[in-house]
Amino acid sequence: MQLFRASIAHFPKHTSEFTNDIAVYHDGGLLIDGKHIVDVGHFDAINKRYPGASIVDLSGKWILPGLIDSHLHYPQTQSIAHYGEQLLSWLENYTFPTEMQFADSAHSSAIAKVFINQLLKNGTTTGLVFSTVHKDSCDALFNEASRIDMAMIAGKVCMDRNCPAPLQDTAVLAQKECAALIEKWHNNGRNRYALTPRFAPTSTEAQLAALGELAQQFDDVFIQTHLSENLDEIAWVKSLFPKAEGYLDVYDKFNLVRERAVFGHGIHLTPNEWARLGEANASIAFCPTSNLFLGSGLFDMSAARANNVHVALATDVGAGTTFNMFKTYGDAYKVSQLRNAPISPLEGFYLMTQGAAIAHNLDHEIGNLNAGSAADFIIVEPRFDELTMLRIQDNAEFDDVFFALSILGDDRAIAQTWVSGRCCYDNKMLQ
Ligand SMILES: [Zn+2]
Repeated sequence: MQLFRASIAHFPKHTSEFTNDIAVYHDGGLLIDGKHIVDVGHFDAINKRYPGASIVDLSGKWILPGLIDSHLHYPQTQSIAHYGEQLLSWLENYTFPTEMQFADSAHSSAIAKVFINQLLKNGTTTGLVFSTVHKDSCDALFNEASRIDMAMIAGKVCMDRNCPAPLQDTAVLAQKECAALIEKWHNNGRNRYALTPRFAPTSTEAQLAALGELAQQFDDVFIQTHLSENLDEIAWVKSLFPKAEGYLDVYDKFNLVRERAVFGHGIHLTPNEWARLGEANASIAFCPTSNLFLGSGLFDMSAARANNVHVALATDVGAGTTFNMFKTYGDAYKVSQLRNAPISPLEGFYLMTQGAAIAHNLDHEIGNLNAGSAADFIIVEPRFDELTMLRIQDNAEFDDVFFALSILGDDRAIAQTWVSGRCCYDNKMLQ
């Protein structure tokens, strides 16, 4: 057993509404045994209870739960940071050409490796990830995640229209391949499958119906897609699905709006759509760096709260501009400032840890440092350069540390990332 001594912060409770009820231990202890957390609390108390544990002294650093990124695209790791597009031309000019390269499974494996390295380097230990239409691209990601026993949620993208022919499957093929991938990967180790229609415009009704059938057959698989990101996109959906009452209704008609359905963006939702998302216990992935980068709009966190809709923060790499979840909260804060309803640092931290885990029904395993949870955690060095040493005091409160890092920080603040009780990334600052 290993006992880590550091400052510790996490949200231990399993209530789906955000409260300021965070547990903070300035001189804390985190005890792990193998792949799981055994105990957390004040260092002295834990040390007394487990006198035989080997102590790892990290005083001055913070231990936090591994971060959860609730929406991103691993193939776009290589197309991040391209100039000058909004959603539909971005897909056409950057996303689709990039994704075509994933017909080559060696390429998929190579990018999956880089992608997971980037997650770990930024303290992210769970992602809800889109691969490409190619079944092998999904295998490549799950294979890489399995090597380090990482809790990965992913799926093959399904598209049977309005995209280049090499990126199209069909309704029948999508259903067959997704069923095979569910069989192979869902609940295999810490992997979980997500049915992944890219978005309504690239799927026919037949394909959405086929995926809806799978969603009913396998009721604990995830569903991930995009929703109401951009006004041109919404107009296009209206013309493609004239009978639907709105964008969300396109998915709803095919049983794709439910618990464990995670919709990227949701910027331009109607009051009825907000209410429906809340009633269905579905989630929105709020992707502020992407929304700003593509000029999509300002997410309305107040509407989400008013309608009891789960929200989880996400990068949306590669339209998102960073893998770093702290910086992602920094942009969420700026978006919320423009709406005159600032998201507090504690709520921001909740939306990438326990709040995200609760949204995904995974708070028994990730998102917190409770006894019994997986030993997925990060070691944060807040004072990593001249400016952070000046700005962040040694004994600063957690919300101040987290906020300063969300504005000033980057991957240099992540000293180590532990997954399933093993150190999988070390930036050498501890040596
Ligand atoms: Zn996306």
